[in-house]
Amino acid sequence: MMLNVSKILVDEGTRYDINLSEEMCFTEYRFSGPVSIVAECYASSGIIRVEGKLNFKLSLACDRCGSDLEENYDLDFNEVFSTNKSVESDDIRHIISKQIDLTPVIYENLLMNLPMKHLCNEDCKGLCEKCGANLNEKDCGCDRRYVNPAFESLGKLMKKD
Ligand SMILES: [Zn+2]
Ligand SMILES: [Zn+2]
Repeated sequence: MMLNVSKILVDEGTRYDINLSEEMCFTEYRFSGPVSIVAECYASSGIIRVEGKLNFKLSLACDRCGSDLEENYDLDFNEVFSTNKSVESDDIRHIISKQIDLTPVIYENLLMNLPMKHLCNEDCKGLCEKCGANLNEKDCGCDRRYVNPAFESLGKLMKKD
């Protein structure tokens, strides 16, 4: 997703509204619908600030039962860019042209805000470890009581006697 800042750089101090929306795709993440950015952008002393909201929907699979789910992300972001290579700071992204590629910004914000687990429902029962049935849909009737492998072999030994 590209943002042209040539006008913003010339017209220092003036705040510009930016409104971008684009179909995007990352190798590991699938979006359902376009990724959009609504932000304010201004330049001062060759430094460009972009502050606003990033919105997208991720198309995922539940970590427990594998069913499809959609997660909506509405993230605040704040980025600083500079054309001046001598300005050194971890917070500043250096740009070489008047076109800023916002794709890495979107990618990093996505990674930073992803939860550890994606669940279709907090109480998702997952899949039966014996027959693979989706336990949210039905109870397959399998015996899923946890048996500690150590005790299981002990049980077998005792049976032999
Ligand atoms: Zn689930
Ligand atoms: Zn089962």
